[in-house]
Amino acid sequence: CGIVGCIGRGDHTVDVLMDGLRSLEYRGYDSAGIAVGPSMEVLRKSGELDALTEVVEANGPTGTYGIGHTRWSTHGPPNDRNAHPHTDETGRVAVVHNGIIENYGELKADLQATGVTFTSDTDTEVVPHLIAQAIDAGADPETAFHDTVDRLEGSYAIAAIIEGSETVYAARQGSPLVVGVGDGCTYLASDVPAFVEHTRDVVFLNDGHRVIATADGYTVLDGDREPVDVEIETVSYTA
Ligand code: GLU
Repeated sequence: CGIVGCIGRGDHTVDVLMDGLRSLEYRGYDSAGIAVGPSMEVLRKSGELDALTEVVEANGPTGTYGIGHTRWSTHGPPNDRNAHPHTDETGRVAVVHNGIIENYGELKADLQATGVTFTSDTDTEVVPHLIAQAIDAGADPETAFHDTVDRLEGSYAIAAIIEGSETVYAARQGSPLVVGVGDGCTYLASDVPAFVEHTRDVVFLNDGHRVIATADGYTVLDGDREPVDVEIETVSYTA
């Protein structure tokens, strides 16, 4: 299972995401998918990455930033509807997640009580609905992301894109997530091989860290939303 993300790569975005997912295949997976902005196109498919590649080639998604996922099912069978990214009802928010959200049952019941319809069996799907609900309540996208992550218990690496915000949002708690620092671009991934062909400058995140990445660069924040001084390490890694 794995997560990738990138921003600042313009027309190369889809290729960067797909190549990144290939590099994380060794971690094991049963489904895969990508979401790109600003179009908010979401493509996902159970099975091998080749199956997703066919869907991507058939649809020709365009984007200048995005997120990708290889799934190792924990909640719900490995079928198309459970493949990530997951979205809210209107498709304004797309989310990928590795790990387990322990309190998803409670969060799902709360959301369903307000009329939200779920379209997957995953624990993950609560996340896009919570972000969308926070936005509907008046929060800006970044606040909606933080407020949502604050409510999650369990282990997760999460990446999200939100319509109208040219930003990749990410959070780490108990599942791996690293930042690749490029020249005018930023990468996110579960592990360095996903972007090592593009950059060897890496920020290893700690639990509780969140990343806000835009075309202008990235900021790492702690759980109190305070900026963290991070160290960029140059890895000697052969892909
Ligand atoms: N718990 C999530 C699911 O079952 C994420 C699994 C993973 O780590 O890939 O979809």
